[in-house]
Amino acid sequence: MNSGGVLRDRTSAQVRELIQDGRAPTVVVPVGSVEQHGPHLPLDTDTRIAEAVAAAAAAELSGNVLFAAALSYGASGEHQGFAGTISLGTETLTAVLVEYGRSVCHWASRVVYVNGHGGNLEALRAAVRLLRKEDRDAAWCSCSVVGADAHAGHTETSVLLHLCPEVVRTQDWVRGNTESLADLMPRMSAGGLAAVSESGVLGDPTTATAAAGQHIFSTMVADCCARIHRWNPGPDGMLI
Ligand SMILES: [Zn+2]
Repeated sequence: MNSGGVLRDRTSAQVRELIQDGRAPTVVVPVGSVEQHGPHLPLDTDTRIAEAVAAAAAAELSGNVLFAAALSYGASGEHQGFAGTISLGTETLTAVLVEYGRSVCHWASRVVYVNGHGGNLEALRAAVRLLRKEDRDAAWCSCSVVGADAHAGHTETSVLLHLCPEVVRTQDWVRGNTESLADLMPRMSAGGLAAVSESGVLGDPTTATAAAGQHIFSTMVADCCARIHRWNPGPDGMLI
């Protein structure tokens, strides 16, 4: 059991005690998005995944680790053609991550952003690079697994079937565009995701299962735990 816990449940005095107890805490912050996830997954899919991975990682890590509430909005410009999507954009998200890091580092020894959305990467890299240049010990890692499909496909749908099956509309799922992201990118940068997938899905959710989701989820948690434990930020601030 770690000595940290959930930040929002603590009082300021309790956080101060953690600091006086020895090394100041590491704060683990999920970063998600509000964007379309096909006809079958909720808009906050990335936030749900980042939150669950970050919470499980924080609980598993020994030592002084605090789990903070998610930053639930991200950079989702490529999904703007779909109703429900709310994007802060890369520039604003970068500013949010920088100011968050500057503020939390007044009392925390480290802050790590646990990211659930690929579109946030540019902001994460820029913000964490700046924070590190300012001598703040910030870093980030991703909820990712080898062989994952891109968006609202087998990977994300399986994880949600594991975490919160009640929000997955399996009766509405459809196979999306399964070309590789590298092949899709030129058309996507020009016309957004709507230009390559009418349903908003990249990948195939119809093969998703809760059992696969449990495996994918525990792989994501183990990967983030190992990276946070090693604490070896690379040149762009990603934990290696
Ligand atoms: Zn997603």
